[in-house]
Amino acid sequence: MAGRILVVEDNEVNRVLLEDILALGDYEVLKAVDGEEGIRLARERQPHLIFMDIQLPGLDGISATRVLKSDPMTRHIPVVAISSYAYEREKELFLAAGGDAYLTKPIDVDVILQTAVRFLKGEASGGRKA
Ligand code: MN
Repeated sequence: MAGRILVVEDNEVNRVLLEDILALGDYEVLKAVDGEEGIRLARERQPHLIFMDIQLPGLDGISATRVLKSDPMTRHIPVVAISSYAYEREKELFLAAGGDAYLTKPIDVDVILQTAVRFLKGEASGGRKA
């Protein structure tokens, strides 16, 4: 297992696609369908990386990222946005909320796997940074 990754995405097609891509990289994949579930799973399961949709029912991806990055239990976990829109303003808001990188759809296999490798370097043993 190359690491544990949480996917927060309300669209089932995108969620399954991300899961399939990450399985190619031998990652364990946790899935959440909204921001609240994503925050709960991040606290409980301590993933090494989170892919975060921005447009979510209830708590949106930017607000969920702000919560994760203000919580000592989860603030160390990298959060990468996968947005439907390439809005510069949305990217600014996401990064201001503490987000680590901002990707836009359509979901690209190589970009997702390269991003996972980039953020999980040194995490493959299963340990996590304090
Ligand atoms: Mn969405």
